[in-house]
Amino acid sequence: MKVLVINSGSSSIKYQLLDMNTEEVLSKGLVERIGINGSRIVHRINGEKHILEEEIPDHEVGLKRVLELLTSEKYGVLKDLKEIDAVGHRVVHGGERFASSVKITDEVLKTIEALSFLAPLHNPANIMGIKSAMKLLPGVPQVGVFDTAFHQKMPAKAYLYAIPYEYYEKYKIRRYGFHGTSHRYVSKRAAEILGKPYNELKIITVHVGNGASVAAVNKGVSVDTSMGFTPLEGLVMGTRSGDIDPAIVEFLEKEEGLSAKEVVNILNKKSGVLGLTKGFSSDMRDIEDNAIEGDPVCRLAFDVYEYRIAKYIGAYAAAMNGVDAIVFTAGVGENSPIMREEIIENYLGYLGITIDKEANNIRGEEKIISTPDSKVVAMVVPTNEELMIARDTKEIIEKGLDELKL
Ligand code: ADP
Repeated sequence: MKVLVINSGSSSIKYQLLDMNTEEVLSKGLVERIGINGSRIVHRINGEKHILEEEIPDHEVGLKRVLELLTSEKYGVLKDLKEIDAVGHRVVHGGERFASSVKITDEVLKTIEALSFLAPLHNPANIMGIKSAMKLLPGVPQVGVFDTAFHQKMPAKAYLYAIPYEYYEKYKIRRYGFHGTSHRYVSKRAAEILGKPYNELKIITVHVGNGASVAAVNKGVSVDTSMGFTPLEGLVMGTRSGDIDPAIVEFLEKEEGLSAKEVVNILNKKSGVLGLTKGFSSDMRDIEDNAIEGDPVCRLAFDVYEYRIAKYIGAYAAAMNGVDAIVFTAGVGENSPIMREEIIENYLGYLGITIDKEANNIRGEEKIISTPDSKVVAMVVPTNEELMIARDTKEIIEKGLDELKL
C-alpha cells in the first residue's frame, strides 16, 4: 500500500510518499512560497535533492506539480497515480470534535472548516490541501490526522483555565495542546525501545524545535501538555514567548500604544530566544554556538530556554506522580547534546538521572542517554510525524474504519 502524506501550510506543502508495506519513504519534498515570488519545489528521490524553480500560484497547482513529479520519468517513483492508495493529511486543529484520526467525508471537511475559528492560520491551509487532493486524486480515500487529537483525553483539571466557565461553554476556550502526533509517536517508540508495555509507563516527551511543547503521557494517554488554547503557551520557543503574565498584554498596549492584536503578534513572532537576544536569532544553533563562545546575551537566552523546559519536566513528574522516561525530540531535542546535558545535570539529579556523556554525544538517532543505574531513563527519539500519519491512514483504509481511536 502506498500512502501520500500531505502537510499543507499557508504558503507551503510538505509531502512524503511512503510504501507502507515496508514503511520506506519513496520520495519527499517541499513546495514553498506558494503564491509568492520565487516559488519552488524541493523534491527528493534516491537521496538526491532536485530544486525546481517555477511559478506556483496556489495549492492546487502546487499539488498538481508534485503528482506530476512523482509520476515523471526523470524525478518519479510511480508509473501511474493509481498506485497511490490513500492520502493522509496533517490537520492542526480538531477541537473537541476529533479525538481520533478520521476518514475525510464531506461532513468531516465541514467540521474542520467550522473549527477554523480556533486555528485561523492553520486549518484553512490544511483545508486547501485536502480539497486539492480530493480534486486531483478523485476516488482515493483521504484521512485526517489531527495535532490536537492525542491530547483530547486530558482530564478537565488539566485542560480548564480558571477563567469564567461561560467562556469555555461559549467559545470553547480551553487547553487543546499541539504536536500530538509527535508526542504520540515518540512516546510509543520509547516504550518499544525500553521493551516495556506502553500502557504501564509514565513518559515525559520534550518536543523542542521551532515550536516547542512538553507532554505528560501516562499509560499511553496524554494527561497534560504545555501548549494551550493556541501554540503560544508553555515553553520558550524560537520566536514565541511561551508562558507570560497575561496582564503584560494590557500594559504593553498602554505603554507602547499598540493594539492587543499587535502585542500578541509580538509574543508570537518577536519573542522567545529571538526577543531575548535582542533580535539576534531565533535559531538555537546560533544561540548555542554563541553561548559556548561566552556571549552573555546568548548564554542568558539559553538559560531561560532550558530553565523553562526543566520546570515543565518537574511539573509533569508531579502531574503523573512519577516518571519512568524523559524523551527528547525535534530539531533542538534531537540535535543539541549540550541542551540535554545541561538540563539533566543542572535540574534533574533529584529524579535520580545521571547523564551518560558519551551516549549523549549524538544527533538525530535513537539513544538512551542516561547511565544504566539512573532511576529514570533519559533518551533521544527522532520524531516522525509523517510515518505516524501514514500508519493511521493505512489502518483506517485497510480495516475500512471511519475513525481510528488513539
Ligand atoms: P519545526 O518546529 O519547524 O518542525 P524542527 O523540529 O525542524 O522545527 O526544529 C528546527 C530547529 O531545530 C531550528 O530552528 C534549530 O534551532 C534547531 N536545531 C537544528 N539543529 C540543531 C543543532 N545542531 N543544535 C541546536 N539546535 C538545532
